[in-house]
Amino acid sequence: MTAIAVLGSTNMDLVAYVPKAPRLGETVTGREFRTVPGGKGANQAVAAARLGGEVVMIGAVGADDFGVRLRSALTAAGVETAALRTVEGASGTAHITVDDEGANSIVVIPGANGTVTGLEAGDASRIGAADCLLLQLELPLEAVLAGAAAARAHGVRTVLTPAPARPLPRELLELIDLLVPNEHEAAALTGSTDPLAAAEALLHEVPEVVVTLGAAGALYAARGREPVTVPAPRVRAVDTTGAGDTFVGALAVALGEGRPMPQALAWAARAASVSVQRPGAQDSMPTRAEVDPGGVL
Ligand code: ATP
Repeated sequence: MTAIAVLGSTNMDLVAYVPKAPRLGETVTGREFRTVPGGKGANQAVAAARLGGEVVMIGAVGADDFGVRLRSALTAAGVETAALRTVEGASGTAHITVDDEGANSIVVIPGANGTVTGLEAGDASRIGAADCLLLQLELPLEAVLAGAAAARAHGVRTVLTPAPARPLPRELLELIDLLVPNEHEAAALTGSTDPLAAAEALLHEVPEVVVTLGAAGALYAARGREPVTVPAPRVRAVDTTGAGDTFVGALAVALGEGRPMPQALAWAARAASVSVQRPGAQDSMPTRAEVDPGGVL
């Protein structure tokens, strides 16, 4: 079994479905409201656990009802939550408005996630025991840096999803083995809207890059090797929320099982293509049997 540590965010997504998003100062009547567990860290943890990874989640939820629900959603997916602290105050929330065209606007309030500024007792050894550490940018940067440093000290592979996009200090990039931006994040990091040029620029900073390209699949680039494009299976997408997190969770599981990168990428693309055919983020993530009907990778 692949052991995966995730150091990242846990949010409750508060989703309002509206015919048309309100303009500044306007009030509109919406159609429906849903609360759904999310946060990029928790999403990646759930994706990896559903696909057979042994996953520990490091982070924080608030001492509120959302915190209880967020923890139980992780537990239900098989994620170990002993290192997910409950801290005073509110859990992280994402306030999302989705209009009839599927366009969204989002306000994220970090809440408990913002209190994670470093590692706590036991975290470094949890990270050290993993095959891989998954990181994103929804926790304070100090925590991401501390996690990456602990992983590097133990020879654990570090995988960073640079979302939400922001400039990254070299000090962090030096600790990253595999960077997985989507094409917008790759452009924001490099200034280049051409994914291949962006991937090549990023190879100056990290040894391996995967740029995810939505329905077009993913581009893999590594120092000293020819870049390769991995196609995505052609499917009818109904909701791509969480596709990137499913892809990263699956990639971590497959790499931890010793699959060569091209095979691991193809498997991750298969897992993500299952998730886009169903609504929701965590709810849409496939089990291993759904990705490998025969039970083998
Ligand atoms: P999100 O923010 O919606 O979670 P993302 O922007 O981080 O996703 P994408 O590049 O859109 O990431 O998608 C990640 C992966 O999911 C892609 O590399 C691809 O394998 C798969 N995927 C996304 N959209 C589709 C689609 N329409 N059909 C098939 N596969 C898809």
